[in-house]
Amino acid sequence: MGVDVTARPHPLASRGKSPPMTPQAPGTVADRIIDGNLQAADATSALAWLSDQADVWELMNAADRVRRARFGNRVHLCSIINAKEGGCPEDCGFCSQSRHFSTHVAPSKFTAVETIVEDSDLARQRGASALGLVTATRGLPDGSKGLDHVVEAVAAVRAAGHTEAHASVGFLSDDALDRLVDAGLTELNHNLESGRSFFKTIVCTHTYDERIETIQRAKAKGLRTCVGGIFGMGETPKDRLELAQELRALDVDEVPLNFLVSVDGTKLAGASPLAPLAMLRIIAVFRLFLPRQNIFMAAGRTHLGQLMPMMFAAGASGMMVGEFLTTPNRGVTDDLQMLEDLGLVPLRCGDGERPEVLQAAQSATPSVGAKRRNALPVLA
Ligand code: SF4
Repeated sequence: MGVDVTARPHPLASRGKSPPMTPQAPGTVADRIIDGNLQAADATSALAWLSDQADVWELMNAADRVRRARFGNRVHLCSIINAKEGGCPEDCGFCSQSRHFSTHVAPSKFTAVETIVEDSDLARQRGASALGLVTATRGLPDGSKGLDHVVEAVAAVRAAGHTEAHASVGFLSDDALDRLVDAGLTELNHNLESGRSFFKTIVCTHTYDERIETIQRAKAKGLRTCVGGIFGMGETPKDRLELAQELRALDVDEVPLNFLVSVDGTKLAGASPLAPLAMLRIIAVFRLFLPRQNIFMAAGRTHLGQLMPMMFAAGASGMMVGEFLTTPNRGVTDDLQMLEDLGLVPLRCGDGERPEVLQAAQSATPSVGAKRRNALPVLA
């Protein structure tokens, strides 16, 4: 009989220290996720993967298996409209709409409700199931004309019936959220931008906790939550892990991944874009760390260049189509052609939570080897 090495105490244990944790293999983590353990990716492994201590192709292979197990060949598509551009009193260092910076963006009035409804029709024609109404505001205070306007716009979009209405409007009180929910709002976007440690180096006019409180308040109202961040601002792998951990703790529903498009005049003007493989690495790690969530590509995905279609193989399950707020996006025709070429079809927002859709996705998932790896896990 051999010696059971697993029974030996770790040398550090006798000195009262915790033994070092070893990063797991991405493929092993994918197996465990597909078997139903949504938290199989631990922080030690995720940090190692984000720190280039795993082959990016191995990471992508694992993330792609998880994506297909979760979403099959379905992808979420959504669009946004700037419902109030520029002049924001906050000082987010990456943002062209902050009045703390002199950029090409000029402050505007609120966009007319009719224009917003027309845009929801356009979004539907592009295959998007939701239109996000975005305002460059600290928030929409109770009793403000801005809140009245967005409530009216949300109700009009829902009445028109082209798409769902989502909103990204900054801080909101419970009463304001109630009004938006009554008008037909289904999802609130409120990004955390980065990990807690790095956040305070790019935003001084409000705190990380204020953002988290708004997200929690929206969840308490029964809204789906869309919370993501921006990469390429000078943050470290540890900062990226901190963001992923916050998103897991909050159990948000959708995670937009933005990659900095530096804008002249902002604090981050002149910052170089991340390399395509570095972007794919981040996508893959977020997919493995957040297997339930819709992880979708937002601003800056054009930095992927020729590797753009690989964002899905890295684990992305959706993308924003159409114009971004103040930075360029690729044309819709090219995006829709890319999906068709990849055999991917649009999935309606929130449908991934419904068993019958998961079932449909399962039957649409191509065979990739071991039967167990094709089976949809209980990810609800
Ligand atoms: S709160 Fe939003 S609009 Fe205002 S500066 Fe920050 S990111 Fe820009």
